[in-house]
Amino acid sequence: MENCLFCKIAEGQVPAKIIYQDEDVVAFEDINPQAPHHILLIPRRHIASMSDLTLEDGPMLALLFITADRLAKKLGLGERGYRFVTNVGPDAGQAVFHLHFHLLGGRKFSWPPG
Ligand code: 5GP
Ligand code: ZN
Repeated sequence: MENCLFCKIAEGQVPAKIIYQDEDVVAFEDINPQAPHHILLIPRRHIASMSDLTLEDGPMLALLFITADRLAKKLGLGERGYRFVTNVGPDAGQAVFHLHFHLLGGRKFSWPPG
């Protein structure tokens, strides 16, 4: 999609520290990390947010979640754990309208979140 920052990152038009990519999924470091490890996982295909998912996105989502867990284990977070979240809309503070999941790890997170 034109003028979408994360589409541009997926297409290599905007630089990012890519951690992993395949046909369907791209993972890259967040530019403003909120934890020692902060990676964003996105589908290559433009989807604005979780609100726009359909049942057909099931296999892509499974791949995205499995990739996140694999990356977390690679980063040494298998034992201590991590957080995997997506923000939807203004109350959650969604700033980029291309579906993305935050993989956060390397420190203790509070619950409930702020
Ligand atoms: P949201 O608030 O929409 O859930 O998260 C958007 C995330 O994208 C933020 O954590 C922000 O730091 C990150 N971000 C914004 N612009 C860029 C960018 O140009 N490159 C990278 N790598 N991350 C970005
Ligand atoms: Zn996009």
